[in-house]
Amino acid sequence: MNILAIESSCDDTSAAVISNGKIGSNIVAGQLIHELYGGVVPELASRAHQQNIVRVVEKALKVANITKNELNAIAFTRGPGLLGSLLVGTSFAKAMALALEIPLIEVNHMQAHVLAHFIDDPKPTFPFLCLTVSGGHTQIVLIKDYATMEVLGETQDDAVGEAFDKTAKLLGLPYPGGPLVDKYAQLGNPLAYEFPLSEMPQYQFSFSGIKTSILYFLKKRVTENPNFIAENLNDICASVQHTLVRMVLQKLRKAARELNIKEVAIAGGVSANSGLRKTLHEMGEKENWHVYIPDFQYCTDNAGMIAIAAHFKSLKGDFSNQEVSPLPRMEW
Ligand code: ATP
Ligand code: FE
Repeated sequence: MNILAIESSCDDTSAAVISNGKIGSNIVAGQLIHELYGGVVPELASRAHQQNIVRVVEKALKVANITKNELNAIAFTRGPGLLGSLLVGTSFAKAMALALEIPLIEVNHMQAHVLAHFIDDPKPTFPFLCLTVSGGHTQIVLIKDYATMEVLGETQDDAVGEAFDKTAKLLGLPYPGGPLVDKYAQLGNPLAYEFPLSEMPQYQFSFSGIKTSILYFLKKRVTENPNFIAENLNDICASVQHTLVRMVLQKLRKAARELNIKEVAIAGGVSANSGLRKTLHEMGEKENWHVYIPDFQYCTDNAGMIAIAAHFKSLKGDFSNQEVSPLPRMEW
């Protein structure tokens, strides 16, 4: 069984091929245009997807050494994501499935972030807990099987990826700033500055408070010393990152203890963060967890994760018809 998978939910155009559960290719074309605007501009993202998609799909087939006629199904991200971006991938997948007379498989982008853990070994065993940390989500999810996932708690405002990106913007770093905050944080002192942790009930998160406190902190320090940011960039990034990582991992530990679950994973773009990866490993050792952290290429948006999710759906015969349309707010 060969499946071509397409991901176009935000600003990365990606295609992957999976053959009998093994990834044969995973091609990602990012969109540099958004850097000029300091964030993703939805209309420009849709246009860039249209420009890139044929090239990206052709490359995915070539790298996997599979021809169009050897494909047995086409998978695509149905949601959640930006409507215009999702429409490009959905329409492309539908047209290709129609032309090749093969079935379609719709995939939920957030489920796919979690199922990326089943691409390589070691693989988690059910039930496991997954902290999904990305540009649009911050959730603690109980994964019961490949298709049954329950959100135990989530952010009530910004996602942690947004908190990273907004911090970067306040520091004058280009978009997307999360990876840059990570880079400078590795050279700084995480205890140089203190930012308040939010107090939220149960497994809920909030990141709007810390964003405001960083803003006021920077305003005050820059008034005293106009070169404050340039002179202390590493320490500021390290301190902010330390706080954000503590906020998410404290809740993950609470959930794991209360549910008595020892299989613990992270997923989504922010799971690429070096501070989060390191601290999770340390916490896992203390708590006796089996910890699962995705390979870097499967953390941020990629079609490889769509392909593995589609593989499990194909085994159950779970296909979509040609009337399917995108769901920008698709639930788990
Ligand atoms: P969602 O998956 O919720 O729909 P998305 O698809 O836009 O959102 P992802 O591609 O999964 O998000 O993740 C992108 C986010 O991850 C951005 O906010 C980016 O800054 C953040 N990110 C990526 N790498 C790092 C890193 N090393 N440190 C911190 N944040 C990072
Ligand atoms: Fe994503």
